[in-house]
Amino acid sequence: PKIIGALKDQADRLTLTSRAFHNDQMGPMLKLLCEVTGYTKALPMNTGAEAVETAIKAARKWGYKVKGVPEGKAEIVVCTDNFHGRTTTIVGFSTEAQYRDGFGPFTPGFRTVPFGVAQAVEDAIDDTTVAILLEPIQGEAGIIVPPADYLPLIRELCDRHNVLLIADEIQSGLGRTGTTLACDLVGVRPDLTLLGKALGGGIIPVSAVVGSRSILEVLHPGEHGSTFGGNPLASAVGLAVVKLLATGEFQERSRVLGAQLRERLDGMIGHGLVAVRSAGLWAGLDVDPQLATGRQVCEQMQANGALAKDTHGSTLRLAPPLVATPEEIDWLADQLEKSLSELQKA
Ligand code: PLP
Repeated sequence: PKIIGALKDQADRLTLTSRAFHNDQMGPMLKLLCEVTGYTKALPMNTGAEAVETAIKAARKWGYKVKGVPEGKAEIVVCTDNFHGRTTTIVGFSTEAQYRDGFGPFTPGFRTVPFGVAQAVEDAIDDTTVAILLEPIQGEAGIIVPPADYLPLIRELCDRHNVLLIADEIQSGLGRTGTTLACDLVGVRPDLTLLGKALGGGIIPVSAVVGSRSILEVLHPGEHGSTFGGNPLASAVGLAVVKLLATGEFQERSRVLGAQLRERLDGMIGHGLVAVRSAGLWAGLDVDPQLATGRQVCEQMQANGALAKDTHGSTLRLAPPLVATPEEIDWLADQLEKSLSELQKA
């Protein structure tokens, strides 16, 4: 209700001006977003893909102007099985054939390394490397949690080689994993963090790049922009979302309800599931491929009233709303259990 209330109030006042002018919503939203995430500067955009593109531009510019990489040579290290969006540049460094096929030629300047292997990042770095872009927990790939020392090792080698660490927390951020950012789980502070999805409260597209002033200030007025980024309506919604996160209540809910969900999911291993991975209220489940595909389980769950999304054959993802009650989390687990047993009988 607080988010919808903010939307309605702002819709009656002012929805869009040129970005050449200030509005009274964007500043407070970006200030609180910086406070909640622990950064000093934020740049608002709309979709997640735009936040990723913004970070790529900022990292390249930083590489040329600050690191001293020769013009046109900047390289960004990316990971296998990544998902960062759907623009031609972004799908160009996807390792998923379906996302790429038929859409080339692609933007050069990306090197792919296996996700979760810090040594592979180190091996890929040279004088032209400006950044590593990764999801701290890979979402679309099936909620893939890397080894606990992976992100700290990446942070250390980024510092050593003067390379920016860019975390795409468009899916993992804003309370989903039980902390404000998934990187907080391992105490790692990236140079740039990308936010989207939940920042719009499930209502309108709101995304942002947050980072340190010294990096984001390589972008000067006129070099980057967006008609709708930071518009008063989106900023009012974003501000309402960030105010909810500022209390810590939803991070706590995600932790507590996530543990409750995890216990139920672990109980289904050997009864239709073969593996469970989770962080807060975000879980990836591998279904026994002898029993059904992820899609079949999702369709069965849908018939039982619960929505989940399959990925990569036999995996499915659960991302219940952070406002869910303990009873609703149990209900969700019940529907999954019921759907698996219906498929076993079929
Ligand atoms: N990055 C990650 C990690 C995502 O999961 C997504 C969307 O699923 C995106 C980027 C792209 O966001 P959008 O669809 O808003 O462009």
